[in-house]
Amino acid sequence: MYRRLIAPGALAASLLLAIPASAADFTPGASGIGDSYYPTYGNGGYDVAHYDLRLKYQPKTDLLVGTATITATATQDLSRFDLDFGLTASEVRVNGKKAAFARSGEQELEVTPAAGLPKGTPFTIVVKYAGKPTDVKLWGFTSPQRTPDGAVFANEPESAAWWFPSNDHPLDKATYDVSVTVPDGTQAISNGTLQSQTSKLGWTRFNWRSSHPQATYLTTLAVGKFDITKDTTSDGIPVINAYSKDLGANEGAAKASVERTTEVAEWLESVFGKYPFEALGGYVPNVPSGFALETQTRPFYSPKQFANGSNVSVVVHELAHQWYGDSVSVDGWKDIWINEGFAAYSQWLWSEKEGEGTAQELADYVYAQHPADDPFWKVKPGDPGAANQFDGAVYDRGAVAIQALRNAVGEKKFFKILKGWPAQHAYGNAKVSDFVSYAEKVSGKPLAALFDTWLYQPSKPAQPAARAAAAPAQPKSWKKIAATHQVHAEH
Ligand SMILES: [Zn+2]
Repeated sequence: MYRRLIAPGALAASLLLAIPASAADFTPGASGIGDSYYPTYGNGGYDVAHYDLRLKYQPKTDLLVGTATITATATQDLSRFDLDFGLTASEVRVNGKKAAFARSGEQELEVTPAAGLPKGTPFTIVVKYAGKPTDVKLWGFTSPQRTPDGAVFANEPESAAWWFPSNDHPLDKATYDVSVTVPDGTQAISNGTLQSQTSKLGWTRFNWRSSHPQATYLTTLAVGKFDITKDTTSDGIPVINAYSKDLGANEGAAKASVERTTEVAEWLESVFGKYPFEALGGYVPNVPSGFALETQTRPFYSPKQFANGSNVSVVVHELAHQWYGDSVSVDGWKDIWINEGFAAYSQWLWSEKEGEGTAQELADYVYAQHPADDPFWKVKPGDPGAANQFDGAVYDRGAVAIQALRNAVGEKKFFKILKGWPAQHAYGNAKVSDFVSYAEKVSGKPLAALFDTWLYQPSKPAQPAARAAAAPAQPKSWKKIAATHQVHAEH
């Protein structure tokens, strides 16, 4: 229903005005959500509430066949909207009626519904599709990875468009039902809780549910042959971990690390507050890549993270993201420090707890390790640019910035900030500037100059957060911490 107010007496004009908004008032949604680093990521004009993905994947051929049912609300009078998607759609329906659709560029699927969608109205999109995800190149790269027995969809900042149509940006979070059928003897791993698993005519269906808001890039799917372990935390949260059956020599170290998920999450709760989601876990598929990713409730780990033995530090990093990155997500990709600075710093806190080097020693080490003319100091963690989004400086200099904050506000206020922030913005989005304001509010201190020095100046700060004057020794935890992010995202 769309109606305008009519002034009494304006009867003649009202005949015209009382007509529902004409087609001319309805305009196409933008092809990007407005990210300053990635103008084509996400879309304008609507907000998704839920994705229901019903998929079938054949590991032998890499063929993915699916139906995505998306419930959304129009945020403008919408004549047309885009979905970010790389596979081939065969049919699109909006509110049950067939909609016209066309590809615009390699990653935009333009959908024109039979009738305009008035602002504020909920609507339902159904997309039927098929394709071989690892054949698809978007934005110049292929995101999913084949494994000897299947495939893995986990990447940042882009992953979703290779397996489901979406509004692909952290600003539009939604809940998910991911239902995947795979040949018997193969498993499908995704986020959240496993609602059910059924087998029929040689195929097994796995029904996964993520019931808290989740960003598209944090939505994951892995198909393959896995050893699965199941447990429940003392708070009743189900824990499901999965390990490729062909991890070879890395299997023991992978299990010795990821099986400590509950212990790590419990420790992180003492630092960051209550765990924000309904499930926990991790999975280690046999991928060729070396990075790990904080896929919501169930991080993805590369076997390479465990090549030198157990690595609880990477588990700490990815689980810390559940608070810093997944529950509180970036507003735009320029805010990446909100994610990576804090996930890196959580590894420093773990190191401190384990007696493998305090956070201060790690900050001293990072500061001393990079001379003033090192390009490391050219990267501004508060606004690194798309090309440097995952540069080591975002992690290391980003974590030094957090140590500088700790030194400026003192232990009590510092840990109050670390715990308060995830609650303040739970299940939402935030900017770096929001964190600066929040830290100022909690500490009662002006901090703009400190954050400007550590996050925004393209030079080595003269006044160190460091306390050691001479070249400090390498803390015991350093090698594992450094290995976490050097391979964090590759494409
Ligand atoms: Zn990270």
